[in-house]
Amino acid sequence: MNNDNGRLRIAIQKSGRLSDSSQDLFKRCGLKVSLADRKLLSHVGNMPIDLMLVRSSDIPGLVMDGVCDLGIVGDNTLEEHALQRQLTGETSAYNKVCSLKFGGCRLSIALPEEVDYQGVQSLDGLRLATTYPRLLNRFGEQHGIRFETCKLNGSVEVAPRVGLADGICDLVSTGATLEANGLKEVEVIYTSKAALISGEKPLSGEKAKTFDKLLPRMQGVLKAKESKYIMLHAPKGKLAEVITLMPGSETPTVLPLAGRDDRVAVHMVSTETFFWETMEQLKDLGCNSILVLPIEKMMG
Ligand code: ATP
Repeated sequence: MNNDNGRLRIAIQKSGRLSDSSQDLFKRCGLKVSLADRKLLSHVGNMPIDLMLVRSSDIPGLVMDGVCDLGIVGDNTLEEHALQRQLTGETSAYNKVCSLKFGGCRLSIALPEEVDYQGVQSLDGLRLATTYPRLLNRFGEQHGIRFETCKLNGSVEVAPRVGLADGICDLVSTGATLEANGLKEVEVIYTSKAALISGEKPLSGEKAKTFDKLLPRMQGVLKAKESKYIMLHAPKGKLAEVITLMPGSETPTVLPLAGRDDRVAVHMVSTETFFWETMEQLKDLGCNSILVLPIEKMMG
């Protein structure tokens, strides 16, 4: 597929765990995108960008081969694909532009609950079902153990029950699926998040300009997501204590309150979690009207 039309082509998952968050990220960046008809290539109306909707497992290859300029994919899929390509001598180079704040999970080895697990050496000689044989084998090599891998692209968790494998190595977020299948997590071998990746070759011309505009917007959206705007009224005499209590306090704004000499308004952006406990402590110091608001966009 020709990728020289000056439009930045970005591969995202068509449907699955990363698709809603990826689409939402671009919408929050102000991209007018209509994905309703689920075509392979979706034109962005207000920027020279095309979104390519594909399977997650195809994204690393599309970016590494230069078919797409950028992609959003889980570190797990990316690294498995890169290891696979290194084995076959295909091009496996890419740049990780930034880590995104969604798609968090871990790749773990799990065994039937009744197995008496005594540490990594207990895995020696086992047969493990997985979608990620390269990452699993790398773990084995690092620990000097050998196991047999059985590659499955789905329903990995049922493999031990049907006698296909002794255990599994699969993605876990809450652990509920493992539990429902009578399995226990014994080793976390990799932790993953979604990432924005680009090909090895630097972008040039129109595409570079579009990317330079898009990236700060993406970073602004991600930063805003984890930040909160905090407002409160505080007793003037307790201002120093109030400020030390406020999480991640970068120079708060202190404003006078009309008709009140003893109290001030304090505003700040916090990049840390604002706990109920902190609000209660602020209240105990005499603060009131404590508001914690989400931030939509940030720049600079
Ligand atoms: P494809 O689009 O090729 O079918 P997939 O089968 O890996 O890919 P999903 O199950 O939607 O599709 O997972 C996409 C990605 O979401 C995973 O590769 C991983 O990075 C991330 N993820 C986050 N939490 C989980 C989880 N609990 N189980 C599986 N994947 C998870």
